[in-house]
Amino acid sequence: MHETAIARNIISIAEEEARRRGAARIISIRVRLGEFRGVVPEALTFAYEVMRIGTLAEGANLEIGVDPLRVACNLCGEREMAPGELNLICSECGGILRIISGQDLVVESLDLAWLH
Ligand SMILES: [Zn+2]
Repeated sequence: MHETAIARNIISIAEEEARRRGAARIISIRVRLGEFRGVVPEALTFAYEVMRIGTLAEGANLEIGVDPLRVACNLCGEREMAPGELNLICSECGGILRIISGQDLVVESLDLAWLH
């Protein structure tokens, strides 16, 4: 399952950072999820809650912030777009669209604890 692999990656990034800083455990993990990444936040949360067992993130909350899909037209500029409406040609002016954000999944920040 797609979300299971993503949840495992998020946890391993967070654990690596926690160990690097000598923390005892992770309290919370914040991620930014692009709306066009093809990941359902509820499915990711479910997978995360299974995958975190036995890791430094076992008691850690996962906070998911969703970034909208943004496109830029070479003629009329930037705007947000619903993922289902994505097209390569601008419906306003016929210009060429490219995606500028909304495709990424990044670990934004962590809250760590140094005492058990
Ligand atoms: Zn345009």
